[in-house]
Amino acid sequence: TELSKIRNFSIVAHIDHGKSTLADRLIQQTGTVKERDMQEQLLDSMDIERERGITIKANTVRIEYPANDGDTYVLNLIDTPGHVDFAYEVSRSMQAVEGSLLVVDASQGVEAQTLANVYQAIDADHEIVPVLNKVDLPAADCDRVAEQIEDVIGIDATDALQISAKTGIGIPDVLEAIVERLPAPEGDRDAPLKAMLVDSYYDAYLGVVVIIRVIDGVIKKGDRIKMLGTGGKYPVDRLGVFRPKMEDIGELGPGEIGFLTASIKQVRDTRVGDTITHEKKGTEDALDGFKPAQPVVFCGLFPVDSAQFEDLRDSIEKLALNDASFSFEMETSAALGFGFRCGFLGLLHLEVIRDRIEREYDIDLITTAPSVIYHVFMKDGSMIELHNPADMPDPSTIDHMEEPRIKATILVPDEYLGDVLKLCQDRRGIQEDLTYAGTRAMAVYDLPLNEVVFDFYDRLKSVTKGYASFDYQMTGYREDNLVKMSVLVNDEPVDALSTMVHRDRAEMRGRAMCEKLKDLIPRHMFKIPIQAAIGGKVIARETLSALRKDVTAKCYGGDATRKKKLLEKQKAGKKKMRQFGKVEIPQQAFINALKMD
Ligand code: GDP
Ligand code: MG
Repeated sequence: TELSKIRNFSIVAHIDHGKSTLADRLIQQTGTVKERDMQEQLLDSMDIERERGITIKANTVRIEYPANDGDTYVLNLIDTPGHVDFAYEVSRSMQAVEGSLLVVDASQGVEAQTLANVYQAIDADHEIVPVLNKVDLPAADCDRVAEQIEDVIGIDATDALQISAKTGIGIPDVLEAIVERLPAPEGDRDAPLKAMLVDSYYDAYLGVVVIIRVIDGVIKKGDRIKMLGTGGKYPVDRLGVFRPKMEDIGELGPGEIGFLTASIKQVRDTRVGDTITHEKKGTEDALDGFKPAQPVVFCGLFPVDSAQFEDLRDSIEKLALNDASFSFEMETSAALGFGFRCGFLGLLHLEVIRDRIEREYDIDLITTAPSVIYHVFMKDGSMIELHNPADMPDPSTIDHMEEPRIKATILVPDEYLGDVLKLCQDRRGIQEDLTYAGTRAMAVYDLPLNEVVFDFYDRLKSVTKGYASFDYQMTGYREDNLVKMSVLVNDEPVDALSTMVHRDRAEMRGRAMCEKLKDLIPRHMFKIPIQAAIGGKVIARETLSALRKDVTAKCYGGDATRKKKLLEKQKAGKKKMRQFGKVEIPQQAFINALKMD
């Protein structure tokens, strides 16, 4: 295809503002998919993505569009994930295209992920077309939202398109705007092959599928290629494009986006951002290297039934084949036996992997407290990266510790601002900025990542009735007074419940955790002390009283619902228990004990 007849773009939006719906509509309008094959959210392929309504992996699609000027254009859309955990994937796919459609829900306005994603597009020098979506809703206020885009983001929104991805209003205008307002790619057909590895995934039938953007030169089926970063050399087995189903193609030239397969064994052999060239007469000029996404949140995954350990290993290895950002190593725990210490990009990533193991492989899991990576500076001058509170060295050998911090941006309607500021304060946040755009406030906080990884997002949603939006980026490490808090149940330490906490908050956290556990652990025939301790010193304590034969005996006569509740609680608890010394602890207790109210 001629360069002037190609347009490459992505759609950036806050979650739920209609990115996937718009992508579907563009595909449908151009007849890329026959009407009868059309199903909602074509690009969100994984079940879990559909259920949660989130896009995890970037997907691409090639659309052919006969424009009003009489020429047919090839439009390549790269769909990017919208969630903070996957910010890195957004940034890399942005490098492969020249423009972005900025979709903003006209009934909601600009949100935190709108900002984060559009800044990535601006960083990548994109031409940006603002699109106001959901104009069919009575609450849509295009003038206000256009003004907000200008005020908050600082881009011209006078020519913002007004559309409804749902009803189809304005879709032809979007296609025309892509052709007219976005630049064509540049590239040299006669130069040595230079292509960017944009993404890769594992397919059970095809092996590793690599998504590429050709910059210079031409790639053909059968060519022998080389990856400059990894040094890997492969013959191209298959070359094609997504429409959105895979379709073979003879060659891909400058500006084009497509896929190749080349008997690559695992996703780990492909490095996103790597330069692909020909093995002979290739370019030596590599693209600016991308750094691989680093896991920032770690937790232990253990099978509830220890007989399922090998199944768990199998499932984790399979998932890792298709997700290079997910790391794992074996871990043994005194209380939980054999399992894996796993690293994730963030909490959503953790949840997605955990859900997939439980669902697709049918393994019940115990998830231990998520932890960030602490830098432990030892008195002997060395530094240890601590991924697991269980590995904490003897405090007397430690000089000081540092923890990772983030810059969090929160957008929220005025009336909830007070609650948001309190939440940030409670989580040891330091306010950096507070501004207003219309009736919305934007608060920027410097926060410790460890205060955010567990339930910050849930809490934020609940104190703002879902109206706040949140985004963050890592900023660096800072020294603080951190200690390891252990939990003892019936005088036995349960390492899966150990957490790193700030010294000033340890008592409060310890008390809250003991109280929670008292409710979460069913009563036994003997009384059970539950304690939180720092080193050898107990800082909080609760006692779970002993059970009489009949649990309902203490509910006198009339209170039938209470009786029923107790019995249900006992039954539910029985289902997924784990034995610790003489005490049985339900699986749910491990996660719930850590939630703060
Ligand atoms: P994404 O998270 O940005 O991909 O958003 P989706 O495309 O999944 O859309 C989120 C929700 O908004 C879905 O329930 C859509 O049906 C709905 N939606 C998308 N576009 C429109 C629109 O133009 N009008 C209305 N009323 N709803 C829309
Ligand atoms: Mg989506």
